[in-house]
Amino acid sequence: TASVALFTADLRLHDNPVLRAALDSADEVVPLFVLDTGVQSAGYDVPNRRAFLADCLSDLDAGLRERGGRLIVRRGDVAGEVCAVASECGAQQVHLAGDVSGYAQRREERLRRALAADGRRLCVHDAVVTALPPGAVTPSGRDHFAVFTPYFRRWTGAGLRGVLHAPRTVRVPEGLASLPVPARTEVSGVSPAVAAGGESEGRARFDAWRAGPMKTYADQHDDLAADTTSRLSPHLHFGTLSAVELVHKARRTGGDGADAFVRQLAWRDFHHQVLAARPRAAHEDYRPRGDRWRHDEDEIAAWQQGRTGYPLVDAAMRQLLHEGWMHNRGRLLTASFLTKTLYVDWRVGARHFLDLLVDGDVANNQLNWQWVAGTGNDTRPNRVLNPLTQARRFDPDGTYVRRWLPELADVPGASVHQPWKLPDRERARLDYPQPLVGLSAGADRFLRARGLEGRSD
Ligand code: FAD
Repeated sequence: TASVALFTADLRLHDNPVLRAALDSADEVVPLFVLDTGVQSAGYDVPNRRAFLADCLSDLDAGLRERGGRLIVRRGDVAGEVCAVASECGAQQVHLAGDVSGYAQRREERLRRALAADGRRLCVHDAVVTALPPGAVTPSGRDHFAVFTPYFRRWTGAGLRGVLHAPRTVRVPEGLASLPVPARTEVSGVSPAVAAGGESEGRARFDAWRAGPMKTYADQHDDLAADTTSRLSPHLHFGTLSAVELVHKARRTGGDGADAFVRQLAWRDFHHQVLAARPRAAHEDYRPRGDRWRHDEDEIAAWQQGRTGYPLVDAAMRQLLHEGWMHNRGRLLTASFLTKTLYVDWRVGARHFLDLLVDGDVANNQLNWQWVAGTGNDTRPNRVLNPLTQARRFDPDGTYVRRWLPELADVPGASVHQPWKLPDRERARLDYPQPLVGLSAGADRFLRARGLEGRSD
């Protein structure tokens, strides 16, 4: 007998309940990845993620080959391709990771129906994409937590499943056709410095980070120049690393850094459980505030290109263009600047991030955008982050700004954060724009629009 392990956001051999269940249920397994034309037409298939995905698939194929198997790659409508493969190898069961987006939920339903029509069964596995499955902890009478702190308390007390070993051998039925595994070199339009993908890379990165920077993570995670966060987000997005395994390992390591890291993984689960319960929150305000957003194409383009005239905002936006990744503090600041100081719809910013982020993820991206815009779960929805205050706290001597803005590379120390204050002659030599808008004018406009008085920090 054979069964199918359909890989989606779980591109790994270690701690993979989908692969394990498929192996346990049959003599032979088809490790299948479908280049899903549905994802492509939804606009989520962008060069930076496609490049990272290619690395993940090559590494997965290599890992399977070491174990006597190989990856089968198909392209097309996922339900059609899975049914075709199941019928070619006579598989009765298809195993899949439960996932949260509206798209993933519809995909699961379509697959279930298409397989059932052929007399086959879809088996969906929990705690593959997240550490705790959505819905595992809920407040009484509700289907999800809307506020993080009580969620985190329950999340911390909930038991996690144990970690599964990678299989020693994988037997794949003979004679199945497969497309070549895509290569990163075939992808065009990729940002210059997109990180390498793949399970081997992810595991090595985590081990190195755990042995070093994790210790200082609690104190240093907001330091923009130090750049010592784990950078594991693309690996978690594609599932080359398992959130369950990371939580277990971090807890075993212990200490403030490990605790703070586990808390961030709980944030990830938190947003996933919101999206699982409210898939429309990917596009619609979770908590509508009656916003009448502004839309000025020039301002939006300046923000996207890192030419707002506020160096810390611009540095972070240039990092995104260059690496397809941005530090969390940069994401908070640039999102606040767009949605509050410029008062532009969070969906405009979320789309730009999704076009570039290697870790671009519907749950984490859309719900963090809503959190910052104050249409989501933030308990301080009208807070406006001030780039100058943020600069003083998180890039005090301007190192991060000089790293990303070559036109300001010669401006010394903290003065790089306010180029408009430089003497006229020096200022005139810099190819750098004047601020797009005054910070208090922007914040006041936003607060008035929300019918409030507030403060910015
Ligand atoms: P670390 O600080 O090392 O944290 C470890 C892991 O915890 C991360 O890899 C990530 O999986 C998770 N995590 C950390 N912070 C958050 C958070 N606030 N919400 C959810 N999970 C978190 N994260 C994404 O993975 N994909 C996105 O598309 C995304 N978009 C964002 C958009 C905005 C506007 C904001 C404010 C945040 C966004 N984040 C997103 C969350 C966070 O910024 C990134 O996960 C983090 O910067 C990744 O870097 P790291 O792996 O070094 O994180």
